[in-house]
Amino acid sequence: MTLEKLAVRMESLRLTQTAAVLGELAQASAVDKETPLEFLERVLEAEYSGREERRIATSLKLSGLPRGMRLEDFDYLFQPAVERDRIEYLGTGDFLAKTENVLFFGPPGVGKTHLSVGLGVRAVELGYSVSYYTAEELLAHLKRRAEVPVSKQRRQNYVKNALVIVDELGYQQLDRQETHLFFQFVAARYLRGSTIITSNRSVKDWVAVFAGDHAATTAILDRLLHKAQIFQIDGRSYRLRHYETLLNKGAPND
Ligand code: ADP
Ligand code: MG
Repeated sequence: MTLEKLAVRMESLRLTQTAAVLGELAQASAVDKETPLEFLERVLEAEYSGREERRIATSLKLSGLPRGMRLEDFDYLFQPAVERDRIEYLGTGDFLAKTENVLFFGPPGVGKTHLSVGLGVRAVELGYSVSYYTAEELLAHLKRRAEVPVSKQRRQNYVKNALVIVDELGYQQLDRQETHLFFQFVAARYLRGSTIITSNRSVKDWVAVFAGDHAATTAILDRLLHKAQIFQIDGRSYRLRHYETLLNKGAPND
């Protein structure tokens, strides 16, 4: 078979990453004096890694995850309130298989969004389906379909995905309808998928966030906390780290 014919055959087998570069791969293989099996490995590895790269890029785009926040870039020395080994456990993805939830509490700038997004990116890399919303965005989605119970909305990403991240819960107070929709959302995901929530308000303030509704707040917390990893990040704001002396908030940086 000529190279062109081989490429056509590979295309029909959907080996799209390597069909166009088969000639180069064969040349490199000859230079390295590879055995046939080594050459096959070279081709298959190129095909596989090319596909993985594309899959991850596409999934990241669909997830709505903001860019530029990876677990690998988190500075644990700056934020000792975050236990590295607990985050690294989450980074293995085991919590997703167990449908555990993760809650990050703390004031602005301590890394709640960074850690959530970092875990989301890791989950995508591991092959899980992920969606990221701010609480405001999620509520807007839920309100658009308010007449259908959330548990029946099986095709919606916020129901079916393995991981849903809800960032910034508590910046805005929810009204009664929003509280009810949020409860339905939590109930629909309960034991079916993992949810990560970040909040600047501690659990004892959640009644105020959820329209003063004690019953709904308890029902929400009951399901969220049943299997949950909780992080209370009381620490310095990474955003304000260069202004701490100015703000007289704590030890100066460096
Ligand atoms: P929060 O969500 O708690 O308000 P963010 O996660 O948005 O805080 O953090 C604010 C900014 O600081 C982001 O750009 C984030 O990437 C960065 N950041 C926060 N904490 C750390 C850290 N410990 N190491 C590296 N970057 C951090
Ligand atoms: Mg944030």
